[in-house]
Amino acid sequence: MSGLKDKILRLIREAGPIGVAQFMQIALTDPKAGYYMRRDPLARDFITAPEVSQIFGELIGLFFVQAWEDRGRPGKFHLVELGPGRGTLMADIMRAAKVRPDFAEAAEIALIEASPVLRAAQAKTLRDVRVAWRQDLRDIADGAPLFLIANEFFDVLPVHQFVRLRGRWHERTVSADGDALMFTATPDPVPAPFIPAELGNAPDGSVFETSPPSQALAQEIGRRVARNGSVALILDYGHATSGLGDTFQAVKAHRYADPLAQPGEADLTAHVDFAALAAAARAERARVSGPIAQGAFLEALGIDARAERLKSAAPEEAAEIDAAIDRLTGQEQMGTLFKVMAIAAPDTPPLPGFP
Ligand code: SAH
Repeated sequence: MSGLKDKILRLIREAGPIGVAQFMQIALTDPKAGYYMRRDPLARDFITAPEVSQIFGELIGLFFVQAWEDRGRPGKFHLVELGPGRGTLMADIMRAAKVRPDFAEAAEIALIEASPVLRAAQAKTLRDVRVAWRQDLRDIADGAPLFLIANEFFDVLPVHQFVRLRGRWHERTVSADGDALMFTATPDPVPAPFIPAELGNAPDGSVFETSPPSQALAQEIGRRVARNGSVALILDYGHATSGLGDTFQAVKAHRYADPLAQPGEADLTAHVDFAALAAAARAERARVSGPIAQGAFLEALGIDARAERLKSAAPEEAAEIDAAIDRLTGQEQMGTLFKVMAIAAPDTPPLPGFP
């Protein structure tokens, strides 16, 4: 049995069932044995858009260069990435940004990363780029504009789940049956304020998810971004409107797994509720664009023309490039389930890629 499963079993035996959010937080980021803290999961367990093709990060780089130009080319700005994985996206952004050398000069790059293993991977990938690591967005000085990117970051932030039983909402919990972990629910119903009023009469068995840390972060981004010519770009899989459904899932070796079976050994995620993020950012008077489908966004940024150019430079890689483009934009692939939302200051120029 993994050390982390032992730890969770002990916690449950001592203090009773834990919420799904606490389970997720321990399984992913327990300092000693959390999933992300001890390994580089990319390619081994799952693959992300920047790892599929360099074109993804290059287009995002051009997005930020354009946004920077449209905002009068500020001489200093923070370029912040949340959960940068191997650092591939930031490396591709900065390579594409070489079209405007002043952009790189003005960028103070900060990476917000919990995992020491991935911090080391980022340092290696970005050895030619001046970057700093920070614990939290709040550690980045206010003042200069903020350009922020988060790809597949919000989906790993913990969610609470509520399940409808006998006409009332209960929080879903994780309990122990011997050495096995299992889903249970709080015996008492939870107070109504957690649940949006329009979902109040859901049928028994319905599940509602909410991620307070995601909303708090979106609110902090909204607060920062609304103040000056800042822009945040959030890409992830999820839904444009809040709704019902159990999206808590585990992935290991490119396959779905039982989320409770091996805490610390599988990635755990939930779909991102973009409507909740948008509401949190708007509460701080930020302007929200999208969410729109990732496929549509990348096409609007010119993914096809860029692919053609790459193919004519390397004809032997044409099939591989086509496959990567299909993976990033195809309806059945990352093109529709993955969405892109931007948060910016009100009354600032429109953003590339958004209608
Ligand atoms: N953006 C990257 C990696 C996505 S995986 C890509 O697209 O390839 C999620 C990333 O978030 C990893 O780098 C992981 O270590 C990091 N992470 C997970 N939880 C975190 C937390 N609470 N704080 C900071 N980083 C976290």
